[in-house]
Amino acid sequence: MTPWKSGRFERQRISRVYHPFTPAHAEDSLNCVNAQALWDRGKRLLMLDVDNTLVQWHSDEPSPEVLEWTEAAKKIGFEICIISNTTQHDRLAKIAGRIGAATVKGRFKPSRSMFRLALIKFKRKPAEAIMIGDQLITDVLGANRSGIEAIWVRRLEGKEFSGTSINRRMERMLTGPIYQALVTPLDETPDSPAAEQAKPLAQKTLVHQIVKFGIVGGSSFVIDFGFTYVFMKLIPMGNGLMSDHLGNFLRSSIPGLFGFAKGPSEAALPLMSALASVFAMTNSFFLNRAWTFEVKGKEERARQMTRFYIVCIIGQVIGVGVATFMYNLNGRQELLIPKVLGALVGGTWNFIGSRLWAFRGKV
Ligand SMILES: [Mg+2]
Repeated sequence: MTPWKSGRFERQRISRVYHPFTPAHAEDSLNCVNAQALWDRGKRLLMLDVDNTLVQWHSDEPSPEVLEWTEAAKKIGFEICIISNTTQHDRLAKIAGRIGAATVKGRFKPSRSMFRLALIKFKRKPAEAIMIGDQLITDVLGANRSGIEAIWVRRLEGKEFSGTSINRRMERMLTGPIYQALVTPLDETPDSPAAEQAKPLAQKTLVHQIVKFGIVGGSSFVIDFGFTYVFMKLIPMGNGLMSDHLGNFLRSSIPGLFGFAKGPSEAALPLMSALASVFAMTNSFFLNRAWTFEVKGKEERARQMTRFYIVCIIGQVIGVGVATFMYNLNGRQELLIPKVLGALVGGTWNFIGSRLWAFRGKV
């Protein structure tokens, strides 16, 4: 099961399919919600769920912490309305009485009915209200459908109504995707130079990125080398290799450009390497975007891809240049060392370009 996580959600990071189930925030409990910050953002009406948010299932006595929190919220100026599916009206009235809240009766959440009635009762616009509850399928979905921001709180310990287990099962399926949109307080601090300095070396973002970029680079190198090897050594043509025919053709047709080559395979290598690199670049883009630089969602993807390919093409020119120079230098038609050196020099260029330009603002 996915462990509970708290933080702020950025919906644009995930598919629109999940937006109706995505809260604005997730908090450990009602007491962790910063009521003053909500007030400062223009929220005036608190809509609260009952079971496993305000009280445990079957209980009618809010904890001292909950009573303290609701009192403090009322002192700030908040109006409180309970939005609950419960059919135990006496119990609901007692809880509402304890915290000094109003109640509304309507269709079950995620219907918009109770949310609308509460807005009418308190003469508030959806933007002035905030819903706080422990279930994605009822509290968060109902609020989002009504244009009201929702805070998802961790359910209170204890038993639950048996029918809730179906909701919880659906919730478990949704938590993975919606957590992709979560920005935890930890994510929000790496920009601070003091916080970055205080971290041990292994936790530093830059070090992580270099290690990940290196691993992705390794996978792309295998792809690059594999395709280059196939193009150079394995594709037959007539009574020789395709690369030899191509090399001979290049040397005889463009002697000015390929005069450097000692033989046909030396002339064919730059072209074959460049072709293989297209496959390697595509692999690198998707892995580096999602894993190394942790860019979420599809926003900016096309622009990042263009920038990344420009960086990589320049990196390839550098890498192929180094590899071709080394291949001609050693004169033994040994492929591996020139390719490794070319990949190292080109890879360093690619990392700097990716971090500072292609995925800028995200790293
Ligand atoms: Mg509940």
